[in-house]
Amino acid sequence: MSKQDFVPFEKKIYLSSPTMHGGELKYMTEAYETNWMSTVGANINEVERMTCEKVGCKYAVALSAGTAALHLAVKLAGVKPGDKVFCSDMTFDATVNPVKYEGGEAIFIDTEYDTWNMDPVALENAFALYPEVKVVVLAHLYGTPCKMDEIKAVSEKYNAIIVEDAAESLGATYKGKQTGTFGTYNVISFNGNKIITGSAGGMLLTDDKDAAEKVRKWSTQARENAPWYQHEELGYNYRMSNVIAGVVRGQFPHLEEHIAQKKAIYERYKEGFRGLPVTMNPYDEENAEPNFWLSCMLIKPEGMCKQVRDEKKALYISEPGKSCPTEILETLAKYNAEGRPIWKPMHMQPIYRMNGFVTREGNGRAQTNAYIDGHEVGKDGRPLDAGMDIFDRGLCLPSDNKMTSAEQDIIIEMIKSCFY
Ligand SMILES: *Cc1c(COP(=O)(O)O)cnc(C)c1O
Repeated sequence: MSKQDFVPFEKKIYLSSPTMHGGELKYMTEAYETNWMSTVGANINEVERMTCEKVGCKYAVALSAGTAALHLAVKLAGVKPGDKVFCSDMTFDATVNPVKYEGGEAIFIDTEYDTWNMDPVALENAFALYPEVKVVVLAHLYGTPCKMDEIKAVSEKYNAIIVEDAAESLGATYKGKQTGTFGTYNVISFNGNKIITGSAGGMLLTDDKDAAEKVRKWSTQARENAPWYQHEELGYNYRMSNVIAGVVRGQFPHLEEHIAQKKAIYERYKEGFRGLPVTMNPYDEENAEPNFWLSCMLIKPEGMCKQVRDEKKALYISEPGKSCPTEILETLAKYNAEGRPIWKPMHMQPIYRMNGFVTREGNGRAQTNAYIDGHEVGKDGRPLDAGMDIFDRGLCLPSDNKMTSAEQDIIIEMIKSCFY
């Protein structure tokens, strides 16, 4: 079979698109008919209650976006201008931008290969370099929980608090405990592409009553209790709309169903790729149960054809028996299916090029070790910059809930054909 043998999908297969069920419309209509068309109402109260119940946190404050929640989490954590903050490196930029909103300076912690999340060894190195740091912001990439025990132990040792970005991992558990409960201030998102959605929206989760009250106040313009608009603190317009909350309310009962669908997609890819020089995005099968939000693949070094990327373009040389993310993504796009490169690590982003970056061997910006195939390698012979390596060899696969097994089988064949 050649690469030309497929018929493009009539209906685009998305990476991850909203999946509606009916209840969403009912609760949105209820907001309309009762005229609670603002940032107050039954839907908001109900989604906050449902979130606490599901995740197991004491307080949930519904906000306009996960990014808004992260911003207020960083404020709660007390980040001040000039403060350094340790952040996940391979993540979406919304994890780290709020540090900059507050004038802080993100120091990026490299990724480990077992879960594609913050490397606790690199984190320990970072504390050795910057012992004054008091805040760690971590994300659970693609719905796979971090090495939470190790990260918690290192953070506690240095008296730093954790802000957990669980935007992608709602419903995932680590040692039986939901993500979104490990940090002091935690964040989930209801963006349109997440495991459940409000079309937009997010929440700050915490067990700290004072913190939750502050977020309620800050997110509604920080009004004081007075007969007029009285302000003692800087406010924000970050509260969730009751209409959006209606969508979230309708989605919540379907969270576990979405997770089961995503898991089936992951397993089907894993099975379908048998024999190819690839692996799936890994997780700790003993301790963690991801929500499988996105299925990703990583091409083994021996299965990689030549590929180069500059800041905005990519080129590759096709080779029998080998492929690369660029070839696979172009092939999928040609047949109307949507994949995506791995989230490009923050330390490689022009906007954060001057920020610190720490690897499992120390200061990642200052290393001059041996190079193999253009990759700087560590003492263990593996690429030293794990994030860059995973970005080079990995990609996110079409992971939409509504993709049928027959459609997924075709996608698997398309990907196989790239290796012919
Ligand atoms: C989506 C996402 C966010 C931001 O959430 P929004 O609701 O879109 O603002 C933050 N962090 C990560 C890791 C995300 O994937």
